[in-house]
Amino acid sequence: MTEPATELLLRVNGIQAAFGIELGFDSQRANEGRADDPYRQANVSYSLLQRRNGRIVRHTLIDVGMGVVPSLLEFEVTHGACVVHDVLLTHPHYDHFGQIDWLSMALLRNGREDQPRPLPIYATRACWEAGPNAIFRYLAERSDFRPVEPGIPVVLGDLILTPFAVDHGPKAPGALGFVAQYGKRKIVVSGDFLHVPDEENSLLFEADVCFLDANTWHPAEWTWHQSVLGNLRLIEKWKPRRTYFVHYSGYEDRNHPNHGINGPMGRDRFCRELHHVAGESDIQLARHAMLLGGDTPWPD
Ligand SMILES: [Zn+2]
Ligand SMILES: [Zn+2]
Repeated sequence: MTEPATELLLRVNGIQAAFGIELGFDSQRANEGRADDPYRQANVSYSLLQRRNGRIVRHTLIDVGMGVVPSLLEFEVTHGACVVHDVLLTHPHYDHFGQIDWLSMALLRNGREDQPRPLPIYATRACWEAGPNAIFRYLAERSDFRPVEPGIPVVLGDLILTPFAVDHGPKAPGALGFVAQYGKRKIVVSGDFLHVPDEENSLLFEADVCFLDANTWHPAEWTWHQSVLGNLRLIEKWKPRRTYFVHYSGYEDRNHPNHGINGPMGRDRFCRELHHVAGESDIQLARHAMLLGGDTPWPD
């Protein structure tokens, strides 16, 4: 693969699970969320940015749940990212597409000549029909839905995104993760998932960075989400150079009253516990607004 003419950055627009910080809930995690700026509690979302000569020339957004547009407004202030060239949706849950309405209308109205219109939205047909197109019936009129299928790459400038099927339960038809390839760099974004049916696929192996749904600490299969402990097996198998956990809430860990970890943990405690189980692997908790290639270096 030839080296791209651009450089790649990845911003984590949000890390929160479906219900963010629970209002009125008494836990260290909830206390931290309230004490931090509550407007920064965006659902899991990523911006993949291709930059040439210091200027962002392509902005590809993965998932647009609650809080993501305010997070992008913050990014506009800090880095001048005001155009979205492509949107990809992992699955039809509201915490992954709830603000596509706000985003698509804003981009329609802003009048910028460099903003692609209609906005391209990539998702499986099953996802589109179950989520965005069912809830926002007018979205199709102001966007360009482009159906994708597992295993068929989408080329966006210097970036190649290959969707892979994930099993996130019967209420998430057409759910996907994405493998992003950019020159020699590889990034795996799991989306919400419990299983990856094709987990032996070599495409998923030896990524530079792997983002995994870790909704709870303990396995909780009935939630159709993966957990911190459940993901260790996949990390062992796929051997990414670095893993980031996202979508943590820990709420269902309350079903383990006799275990030391029996509910939502604050960031410090979570990181300490993670350090105990990570062994030799580089596993971290993702942070709101972290920028790989910017404030956070890519793994060597
Ligand atoms: Zn979710
Ligand atoms: Zn979900």
